[in-house]
Amino acid sequence: MARQARRILITGGAGFLGSHLCEKLINAGHEVLCLDNFYTGSKANVRDLLECHRFELMRHDITFPLYVEVDEIYNLACPASPVHYQHDPVQTTKTSVHGSINMLGLAKRVNAKILQASTSEVYGDPEVHPQDESYWGRVNPIGPRSCYDEGKRCAETLFFDYRRQHNLSIKVARIFNTYGPRMRPNDGRVVSNFIVQALTNQPITIYGDGMQTRSFCYVDDLIDGLVRLMETSDEITGPINLGNPHEFTMMELAETVKDLTGSGCRIDFKPLPIDDPKQRQPNISRARDTLNWAPSVQLRHGLTKTIAYFNDLLRSNALGAIA
Ligand code: NAD
Ligand code: UDP
Ligand code: UDP
Repeated sequence: MARQARRILITGGAGFLGSHLCEKLINAGHEVLCLDNFYTGSKANVRDLLECHRFELMRHDITFPLYVEVDEIYNLACPASPVHYQHDPVQTTKTSVHGSINMLGLAKRVNAKILQASTSEVYGDPEVHPQDESYWGRVNPIGPRSCYDEGKRCAETLFFDYRRQHNLSIKVARIFNTYGPRMRPNDGRVVSNFIVQALTNQPITIYGDGMQTRSFCYVDDLIDGLVRLMETSDEITGPINLGNPHEFTMMELAETVKDLTGSGCRIDFKPLPIDDPKQRQPNISRARDTLNWAPSVQLRHGLTKTIAYFNDLLRSNALGAIA
């Protein structure tokens, strides 16, 4: 056990980011209660942890109350891919709003520190570039992305009101696009789409003209940032941007994926989804100063590891289909 082993609840723990966080905290010697309703997450993501006596997996939907005893809560539950969060938009808003109320109520009762996985989407389609935490954002309140964006904005409001009203120890991380192993092949997000398309020799689908930009952070860097934020003293609440400031166009991403996979697949252009932000890049000065954190994994290196993961997954799925 770690010297200061803690009981840690991770909601959305069987998802992409959550499963990496479970692994990191188990390896650090803590007790981890991984809670998930398996909407976009899966048991397979935490399979290797099930043997550990400090790890517990629980099926639960955070829109319902939860009574457990823990020291820290990482609130990650919420589908993150536009395809999935738009599939049942009312449930997406409930997860961010009712779910946050329940987790904040729990934190209040047991006096736990609580961290919210917020998002760069709170900035919407920004007029300020790069985005720093003082920017209030430009979000459409009634569009197809609003269930996610406004849900996350309301969750931030709740976190800060529980701080002001009940003096809770809160941490709000604004996570920018993150990628890596354990994204789902059919997740709909750009990195997983492009890699799966390249590996299976299907056309790479670029939405719009491919000139929109994003900045992608490798999962290990992001998880390191989240844990550092949780470990700060009570006065540090955030919001704090966590992401990689290296910005590039979706066209450049497509070319890099083609190059790294050696795929000869063609590129197809599809309509740009409604309210798709044109550009996005974090200003991470606050994370550098407060957490002494900055991402260290280069895009090509992170993509190579992610491609290896999808290669293995597609091969084992193909073998499974043959068997
Ligand atoms: P993910 O979809 O892989 O993980 C979300 C997990 O939450 C899944 O396991 C899902 O089954 C679970 N879940 C959803 N609704 C739930 C509910 N009501 N109760 C219990 N569990 C529920 O997505 P991810 O990329 O791992 O994202 C994790 C968190 O980080 C999300 O809150 C997301 O908004 C935030 N985030 C992620 C990114 C990114 O690029 N990956 C960027 C910004 C913010
Ligand atoms: N809650 C929970 N677990 C707890 C304590 C509270 O799920 O251990 C939920 C409960 O459903 C409540 C919500 O958190 O509705 C907010 O709790 P709070 O104490 O802030 O408000 P109240 O109970 O007064 O509504
Ligand atoms: N995108 C794309 N092709 C795809 C999937 C996404 O060109 O197959 C684009 C999408 O329109 C957006 C960017 O890639 O401009 C990032 O999309 P993603 O869904 O990964 O994240 P988000 O829009 O939430 O940043």
